[in-house]
Amino acid sequence: MASLITDLQSRGIRVEAAVESRKGGAGPSDSGMLWIEGVPVTLPTTAGYATPYVLRREDDGLAVYADGERVAAASSAGRPRYYDLTTDDGIPYWKIALLHLDSLASTVLQTCAYWGNHDQCQFCGIGLSLSAGRTIAKKRPEQLAEVAVAAKELDGAVDATLTTGSTYGRDRGALYVATCGQAIKEAAGLPVEVQFEPPDDLDVINRVHGHGIDSVGIHVESFDPEVLARVAPAKARTGIEGYFAAWERAVSLFGAGQVSTYVILGMGEDPELTVAGCKRAIDIGVYPFVVPLRPIAGSLMEDCLPPDSVYTEGIYHQVVPYLLSRGMDSSGVAAGCARCQACSAMASVERSIKLTASRTG
Ligand code: SF4
Repeated sequence: MASLITDLQSRGIRVEAAVESRKGGAGPSDSGMLWIEGVPVTLPTTAGYATPYVLRREDDGLAVYADGERVAAASSAGRPRYYDLTTDDGIPYWKIALLHLDSLASTVLQTCAYWGNHDQCQFCGIGLSLSAGRTIAKKRPEQLAEVAVAAKELDGAVDATLTTGSTYGRDRGALYVATCGQAIKEAAGLPVEVQFEPPDDLDVINRVHGHGIDSVGIHVESFDPEVLARVAPAKARTGIEGYFAAWERAVSLFGAGQVSTYVILGMGEDPELTVAGCKRAIDIGVYPFVVPLRPIAGSLMEDCLPPDSVYTEGIYHQVVPYLLSRGMDSSGVAAGCARCQACSAMASVERSIKLTASRTG
């Protein structure tokens, strides 16, 4: 399964049966969302690359075919029921938060201080869904709380993943996204991850913790400083050491495994630096959520390709055993991207390692 998922996320799939998907925005964008043999997976469905994979409808569900041969059963959640609801002031719930498989996800501030200027992260699509009218610029805490209750009751959402564009403020938006997370927790009782850039003042992270948030994502995106400088200049100014300082503070508050970082593969990074950075992060209790680049149409990287699956799987097989050897795994993450795992095959690698270990006693 790990190899199949890694290859699907690298090469994409041609879809002959409609599935839930999303375009633009932060996170798993321009993606279809499926369960493949029961494993949650996001994968490119709209990209133009040549792929041997096809998703077909069968009598009792969906299936993945490769070069004409059936390789796995699949299922799609279908359109969430809460998408048909609107707020009293007429905003459709789906413009406030989307359901990514079983996680309620929202970008609470759909604007970013870096969008549209030379600091814009090249892989990001935060402004695209806003300009296309598929979302609203600012989601209020009470709106998110209302939607979260509906998503849990009508569609079985199990957690909430909240991110934000960066603000010019010294907290970079961390306090607003934490306020939104607290509103969701209090109304719906869901575990919540909030994601933000390292604030200038690390005491902001203590205040985020004070909002009762379960997990945080502070995303360095690449451990290769040259790549970071090229693809995310503002993050490069924080610097990799700046991220480690923020992570150390966050782990001291939220605990090992409740702090994560995206690590995007396929942007020209040095694999040795990448694995060494992941291991150093793990050593201080940070979960490096390693994902292949998913080039978003309209982003500055729209003409790039995802990395080769052999490369990606090779990195997984160096990072995941190290995580396990330090007593961390995906099941220990309370909420968010590293809990969901659908954008990576790390959890499948983890399962195969555990299965092999149990067989060999
Ligand atoms: S900081 Fe970068 S990745 Fe995050 S929203 Fe702004 S442009 Fe996008």
